[in-house]
Amino acid sequence: MLIHSAAQLLTIAGSPQRGLHLGELGIIENGAVLINGETIVKVGESQELLSQYPHESLFDASGLVVMPGLVDPHTHLPWVGDRSDEFEMRLIGKSYMEIMSAGGGINSTVGATINSSFDQLLDETRQRARTLFNHGTTTAEAKTGYGLTLENEIRLLQSIDTINQEGPLELIPTFLGAHIIPPDYQAHPDDYVQSICLDMLPRVVDWWRTKNKNAALPFVDVFCDQGAFSIQQTQTIFKAACGLGFPIKIHADEFANLGGAQLAVAFHATSADHLVKTSPEDIQALAKSTTVAVSLPCTPFGLGHSEYTPARDLLASDALFALASDLNPGTAWCGNMQFVIALACRYMHLTPAQAVASSTINAAAAINLADRIGSIEPGKQADLIILSVNDYRQLAYRFGINLVKNVIKKGRVYSV
Ligand SMILES: [Zn+2]
Repeated sequence: MLIHSAAQLLTIAGSPQRGLHLGELGIIENGAVLINGETIVKVGESQELLSQYPHESLFDASGLVVMPGLVDPHTHLPWVGDRSDEFEMRLIGKSYMEIMSAGGGINSTVGATINSSFDQLLDETRQRARTLFNHGTTTAEAKTGYGLTLENEIRLLQSIDTINQEGPLELIPTFLGAHIIPPDYQAHPDDYVQSICLDMLPRVVDWWRTKNKNAALPFVDVFCDQGAFSIQQTQTIFKAACGLGFPIKIHADEFANLGGAQLAVAFHATSADHLVKTSPEDIQALAKSTTVAVSLPCTPFGLGHSEYTPARDLLASDALFALASDLNPGTAWCGNMQFVIALACRYMHLTPAQAVASSTINAAAAINLADRIGSIEPGKQADLIILSVNDYRQLAYRFGINLVKNVIKKGRVYSV
């Protein structure tokens, strides 16, 4: 298939974009892409490709933007139920942490999720996966974390695996057994940490190996924050996870700075996510590292907070920076990366080009996939989106609507 005559073809070719190099979109006007099967074969100007390949089936993208599929490197996709009552409680003055200490928050979603049938879990998760895909996300990371026992966490991994197999949205799994200390362990939280290290992680390896013999292990993530896991507990889990060969991620500095960002760098974590209460010293540590700093602007927006990730400081320090949705039922029920881009430009002062690169090639780096997805280059997987507008900056300028017209996943065209 030859997609041709694009008003703008954003290739975003090359490596993940560090620091102030962020935003190099490699725009080709009147651009064309040749796809064979699941793979991008050639990229160039329309006249050249149309004359070289006269017998291909054609896709006319006149007046439209063609760009890489959006990548969402941080979602909590599988859960059951909703917490609209808690949202209302927050509006009348209760804080997220107060609601969590009173048995609400993550624990209430854990209860709804573990008491649901597997079909209900799949149904609700599948609907969200479809919404992400229709808004232009072609690959998303998906975390467990609403199970908190070995059996229930494996069930969540199984739901992610099932929805990934169904497609078209591709899912990259993360084990987040360390999402919160379960109520039964409140008096002795280190026992839960030991259960993760000695029981859950080895069993996750066994389960994964029986399903995907050669694929890289899922990520292991820890919610390192006030009211969740301490820096020592996080370190203990990281040691166990790294010892078993898991790549790692962290939730750090969302509500309080416990030192999670620097711990992530010390353990060569793939990404450190949230980074709101992040200090200048943390930024310096991230800047010299390969750990991708992932910002989740839907979360402060969803909580009605005014403090966001210090993105411009991270870029000035030469860090690798990416964006994600943080789709979850507590703070940010939004899996629309177009809205994430709109927020990032307004509240973190990224340019539209920087926000787009943060949601494609750099977001792919945040899940260790920048060699396969995130740009339009020969040899890469044919994951593209076609926007109903002729200028990519509309993605940031407009908000609250869907500008995606078509999604192309592994070479197959879907209409939105
Ligand atoms: Zn999260």
